[in-house]
Amino acid sequence: MASLPNGGPEFRVAVVGSGPAGFYTAGPLLSDAARSISVDVFDRLPTPWGLVRSGVAPDHPKLKMVSAVFEKTASRPGFRFFGNVRVGSDVTRADLLRHYHAVVYATGAENDRKLGIPGEHLPGSHSALQFVGWYNGHPDFSEERFDLSCERAVVVGNGNVALDLARMLSLSREDLACTDVADHALERLAESAVRETIVVGRRGPAQASFTSPELNEFALLESIRVEVHEPSVLEFAPDPASSGSEELRRLELLRQFAGAGGVRAAGDCRTVQFRFLSSPVAIRGEDKVEEIVLERNELYLDDSATFRARPTGELVTVPTGLVLRAVGYGGTELTGVPFDASKGVIAQRQGRVVSPSGSPSAGEYCVGWIKRGPTGVIGTNKRDALETVTALLADLDAGVGNVPVEPCPDAILELLIARGVQVVDQECWQRIDSHERARGDAASRPRVKAGRWDELLSLAGRPGGGPPR
Ligand code: NAP
Repeated sequence: MASLPNGGPEFRVAVVGSGPAGFYTAGPLLSDAARSISVDVFDRLPTPWGLVRSGVAPDHPKLKMVSAVFEKTASRPGFRFFGNVRVGSDVTRADLLRHYHAVVYATGAENDRKLGIPGEHLPGSHSALQFVGWYNGHPDFSEERFDLSCERAVVVGNGNVALDLARMLSLSREDLACTDVADHALERLAESAVRETIVVGRRGPAQASFTSPELNEFALLESIRVEVHEPSVLEFAPDPASSGSEELRRLELLRQFAGAGGVRAAGDCRTVQFRFLSSPVAIRGEDKVEEIVLERNELYLDDSATFRARPTGELVTVPTGLVLRAVGYGGTELTGVPFDASKGVIAQRQGRVVSPSGSPSAGEYCVGWIKRGPTGVIGTNKRDALETVTALLADLDAGVGNVPVEPCPDAILELLIARGVQVVDQECWQRIDSHERARGDAASRPRVKAGRWDELLSLAGRPGGGPPR
């Protein structure tokens, strides 16, 4: 562990979660010139970087380059990584408040939203969380099985995650082979029988959440043909309440796809079809998914001048063996931390955790998706973290933070060792990282990921330290 030049730090901060929000919080705290602050970053996984490692699609390597910034932060004096530590069981909220002046929750959104329709739990119906985790080598999902023997898959949702899923189901072996996609997924996706992926949106194309740069990627991929079901939907105008330019760009791209007869028709292309104004109402099958029932919607303007969908009663049945829902995520409640269950976020003001009565909880903060909900790109977390860090520093200066009864930096490690927790520290993680990169070099890929708990912990030098408790 790196140590501070003048002995112990003045303030000790625990950050729970090592994704972008966690690292964008640790960075400014460690580089703060006015105070001496150490930061311990906890993660239940033996690997850091959160969604940068296990959420960003493998064919988006540029987005993953931000990990270099996180590694720079991790090399600063005062930083420690506590991987393979589950906050809530290995160490509790109360434990953290006994050891740190401040605790920042950066736990993201680990739950997927459900559709709440019959048949949703049939084999062959999965959440984006499972599929993304599987192809990205997240150890919780390495044993998942997806039936890729069907010819048609259906992705429900119109956000950027839905586009990631549709692309990953359609990329060729050549497209995938140069990425860090998990080895177990590479073969299955390359050999998949899926020839058509239907992306279902409940509202119109102008109301979709996916963004035009991500949509435009389909035009650049030779292995994918894009269609728009019933192109007349492209005549709908954007919401009067919206600025319009991004919506118009999206519509223009979709018109190009539709007008070009699917852009390209020849060869062994896989097809992505956008189907708007449709809501799934049932998933059916004997003992696995065999079809999905979609209901046609119409749009109406609500009081805030936003187009909403309402059902028309017109049903259509689409045969499929695989349904993936990408309808958003939600956060998980941490025992004792005030939680707004309706939004799936921690109750907070400017990053300060607040009780139901609205009063701040001394020394507790939050950042990222668990603070603002599952929206925004990786960079959004930088601005968001700055707000939380500003509040935290102001509280330290005002002396209204938490007063730890165990401020010695070694005490938390001793506690975890006494509880039998096999902590994966920064050095352990670097062993995993070097191994993956070396295997990647040999295969002309960015890295070849270790994707199972036992493999990761053994590479870290912590065999027998998992699986998760
Ligand atoms: P999202 O952008 O919030 O999209 C969720 C989609 O699900 C919306 O189209 C929503 O439709 C739909 N939906 C919600 N409930 C539904 C239901 N019951 N039935 C049918 N559709 C339903 O969420 P996301 O795609 O999970 O993405 C999360 C965040 O990560 C976003 O900010 C996204 O931009 C970001 N992200 C970025 C990238 C990238 O930069 N390349 C990649 C992936 C994710 P309505 O609009 O009608 O509610």
